[in-house]
Amino acid sequence: MGDQATEQRRNVSLEKAKRFRGYAFSYLEAKKAVPTGFQLTEKYHEQKRRILEVLNAGDKNWSDWKWQLANRISSVEVLGKILPLTKEQRSNFKEIQSKFRWAFTPYVASLMDPEDENCPVRKQMIPDIREMALTGATDFSGEEYSSPVNNLVRWYPDRVAVHVTNVCAGFCRHCLRRRKIGEVDKTIPEDNLEEILQYLKDNEEIRDVLFTGGDPLTFSTAHLDRLLTALDEIEHIEIKRIGSRVPIVLPQRVDEELCEMLSRHHPLYINTQVNHPKELTPDSSRALNLISRAGIPIHNQSVLLRGINDSTVIMKVLSHELLKARVRPYYLYHCQGTIGIEHFRTPVETGIEILENLRGFTSGLGVPNYIITPSGLGKTPLAPDYQVSSGDGFILLRNWEGTVYRYENPGHS
Ligand SMILES: *Cc1c(COP(=O)(O)O)cnc(C)c1O
Repeated sequence: MGDQATEQRRNVSLEKAKRFRGYAFSYLEAKKAVPTGFQLTEKYHEQKRRILEVLNAGDKNWSDWKWQLANRISSVEVLGKILPLTKEQRSNFKEIQSKFRWAFTPYVASLMDPEDENCPVRKQMIPDIREMALTGATDFSGEEYSSPVNNLVRWYPDRVAVHVTNVCAGFCRHCLRRRKIGEVDKTIPEDNLEEILQYLKDNEEIRDVLFTGGDPLTFSTAHLDRLLTALDEIEHIEIKRIGSRVPIVLPQRVDEELCEMLSRHHPLYINTQVNHPKELTPDSSRALNLISRAGIPIHNQSVLLRGINDSTVIMKVLSHELLKARVRPYYLYHCQGTIGIEHFRTPVETGIEILENLRGFTSGLGVPNYIITPSGLGKTPLAPDYQVSSGDGFILLRNWEGTVYRYENPGHS
């Protein structure tokens, strides 16, 4: 008898395991169409050679982050030597750049596929005439209505974001803060900084300060050290965060000196933004690894972008690659209605469906929170609904696979 029961349990288990393998194999097949930056290193290397030739520079320049920043590609003439551009694109550029600045590091350019106009890195960085539709709001998330002090945004009881600079290593076309990018690189003036620090000192409930921008890691190590020290000196500030795409678009910036400095400002967290697996390369992984080794947890904030990462398989490969680099997927943002980025936006349902297809199908560590940011109202999480209905003393739930079950609800007898 006992043996029979054991056998029956084993058969149920085997049946289930077979079904699970089926899901996994479909994914392994689908993922072949999504190469990561590690699989593209040869192509990247080739493109790097070409760019160095165009810029008349060498390997030593390439690994110097200040050279990368100073030599951001921002002219049609240079770009046209790196990638094929049509006549139409060239003339469009003139129109677009009069309204929205564009520039990105030679490193980012090396990740762009010259043969593929739909390359996810190109789409994130190269201006597109659809930006000139000019639909959307300059300040969609209403930051200017939540700034008790210039360049400080307060949406919450206990934490604030501070825009410390407008400098970026690459200006994403989907930027939600493009109103701040302007024509030239600018960091906040000293008196504004004083004002912000005074606000933080005067508001003892602020326990979490997020430096963002622009990109704070474009600062010199000494300057960033000074800013972080100023926060350290305010007793009620418990944690500090830096929002930065530098590890992804300017990995050369992340060196021992920077990490040694950062490690003197614990507890410090870094949030980065990777939107596609091809952005994770040996270079960015080295940068992420150095940051982790300095004791800084790294989280990722992706933006859901049409034609770039709006599919389950891409987001799943991305999650896996991030976890391999010890980066935890944190947020997946629904693309905001910022001016000139309508063509990147997906229906809200796309994100929910991606989450639905991640939960259970992969490590819970790899499932981000899906976030909508309405004007001035903070972040609102959206998720698939796993509660089907409720009754007297019970609820009906469904699991990740869709099996509906009844769950007794304690305290409702
Ligand atoms: C995103 C953001 C934060 C941090 O939000 P968390 O959900 O705590 O990560 C804080 N303030 C502002 C203004 C923000 O935009």
